[in-house]
Amino acid sequence: MDTCDTIDSVSKLNTFQKVTIKAKVMDKSPPEQLSTKSKSLTKADVVVADSTGSIKLTLWEQVIEQIEVSKSYLMKSLTVREFDNNKILSSSQDSAFEEVDDIGHVKFENQKSLHDSMTVTADILSVNCQTINNCVSCRKNLPPVNSDIPTIKCLHCGIRQRIASIATSYKCEIVCNTQKGHKTFFIPNRVLQSSDITAGLTSADQIEDCLLQQPKITLSLSNAFVTHMQTCNMPSTSDDTTDSCSSEPPKSVSIV
Ligand SMILES: [Zn+2]
Repeated sequence: MDTCDTIDSVSKLNTFQKVTIKAKVMDKSPPEQLSTKSKSLTKADVVVADSTGSIKLTLWEQVIEQIEVSKSYLMKSLTVREFDNNKILSSSQDSAFEEVDDIGHVKFENQKSLHDSMTVTADILSVNCQTINNCVSCRKNLPPVNSDIPTIKCLHCGIRQRIASIATSYKCEIVCNTQKGHKTFFIPNRVLQSSDITAGLTSADQIEDCLLQQPKITLSLSNAFVTHMQTCNMPSTSDDTTDSCSSEPPKSVSIV
């Protein structure tokens, strides 16, 4: 078993120490080419977060393509560096990245984002919402629920539990038509739970259906992550019918 460091503990470590963390990628900058006298290197910055905090991680060379926003990884043998009096992490040739189950809730401050936050108004073209059931004991992801059986066994810790008592969260990916073309955004569970549009919905199907019924929505973004969403309530202009952009969420959602 690897022992993981927490991100908040990195600030107490010395530079050039090696750490292993399990973290989720929250943001990623475009790759950048750096030239030295002898060779040219590619680097990209990402922001990674776990339940204790977030930190900037500089990736070098081939690993850049391997690391995707919104995925969680076990990141082995990263080097602690210092930049502007802040600790950051850097990959090296010893580093290894292994994709793992979504680590769930992370502590992420938007101001650590690599990009300015922005707001877009978008048409949702498609939605993919997934249910994540977390084990009541170890909090890891449970296998898919079989509705014929009222209990489920965790494959990680072996605990059997009632389906009614497991904590369910959702993660949602939407493809939108924006002024800059088709873009994919991620809606974290806390945004799904707090937005007027989707709060109170109790299945992934309902969330997908509800989002696709919105004519247009306004998204606040931190890079590819939605931090807030609401139905677009543009004043009705010209000869358009006022229904074209209702600010009322649908009252009921029927699922077939
Ligand atoms: Zn478990």
